[in-house]
Amino acid sequence: MFDTKVEPSPSVPVSPMESRWPDRSCCCSAPPVVKVFVPVSPQRRVDLYLCGHHYRESFAELALLGARCSFRDESLALW
Ligand SMILES: [Zn+2]
Repeated sequence: MFDTKVEPSPSVPVSPMESRWPDRSCCCSAPPVVKVFVPVSPQRRVDLYLCGHHYRESFAELALLGARCSFRDESLALW
């Protein structure tokens, strides 16, 4: 039913107003390495800042939800 090879897209443009990153992730006290845009309806999304550990742990589920992401360091997008 779902294509498990789908990955969150690293190509979401981030406006200058959104470019500030918090010191802590939404998932734990580690600094965030990825901002994930999770669609909750056709008109709304929830933005989450995740650490690398929790991003990797939830990667498959985020992809299934159609989440997109923006990496703090684009070199990390190769995970
Ligand atoms: Zn975390």
